[in-house]
Amino acid sequence: MDLLRPRLEALVAAMDERARIGFDPVEFPHRYADPRDIEVSALLAAALAYGRADLFRPKVDSLLQRMGPSPAAFVRTLKVEGARALLEGFVYRFNVGTDVAVLLLGMGRALREHGSLEAVFARGLEARGTLHGALDVFTTTLRQVPLEPLRAKLGPERGLHHLLPSPLGAGAAKRLNLYLRWMVRGPDAVDFGIWKRVPPASLVIPLDTHIGRMAQHLGLTARTDLTWRTAEEVTAALRQIDPVDPVRFDFALCHFGMSGACPAQLEASRCARCSLLSVCQVGPKLAARPGRRA
Ligand code: SF4
Repeated sequence: MDLLRPRLEALVAAMDERARIGFDPVEFPHRYADPRDIEVSALLAAALAYGRADLFRPKVDSLLQRMGPSPAAFVRTLKVEGARALLEGFVYRFNVGTDVAVLLLGMGRALREHGSLEAVFARGLEARGTLHGALDVFTTTLRQVPLEPLRAKLGPERGLHHLLPSPLGAGAAKRLNLYLRWMVRGPDAVDFGIWKRVPPASLVIPLDTHIGRMAQHLGLTARTDLTWRTAEEVTAALRQIDPVDPVRFDFALCHFGMSGACPAQLEASRCARCSLLSVCQVGPKLAARPGRRA
């Protein structure tokens, strides 16, 4: 870790975060200033941030535009008929209008009853004592919306548990951990730091294919599956570098992979000029044999 620490610090320092935000779903909550608007727009954006960015971004953008200047005010007063007007005909891959309506109505009820989404999460953390358990309470609470009236107006739900998963399964719950990173750590150019009742040290890295690949290359894990266990293992390794804020390297690492600086299809020439070459477990072997791909 002594060798990796300065390389990761340099990667974070070199990352043009403001430029990269445009390639990241975190751009949506950055449109708002009020913490309640930030947490509501962020959860909608994170929940739909799967698949191709060029496909989910217009969906999120259109919904937020139609929700008006304050997404929090919109969901607070939202009723089934309003959800129908907003979401009739909505389809994005695994999700249809009823799924998104549950999320919006669930957030509205949470704001009315608890004042903020943070309060719902903090309650779960207090009751369950772990981030994993708190996320379960959080998504279960948000899903507690009567389905029959929605089914009558918008048709049956399709992928509600994909949109708002229970992290008690083996999955890494990447989008939920991404949402938590946005809300809890910071503030900085990317993350908001508006949830003060959750310590950044407790966060788990949002594990996706980019982070999984980078983590293996850098020896943060030997595991190849994208599970909660792997996410915890990668986070534990990063905690040795920064015990207080282990997931602060996530944005830089993820965008290093996403931008093509470390592509899935590795190239010797790219590895040879990579800033992480000296701490990478794969690149040096490849860079020593120019022209080779892996
Ligand atoms: S040296 Fe190659 S494999 Fe390693 S991080 Fe850099 S680009 Fe990726």
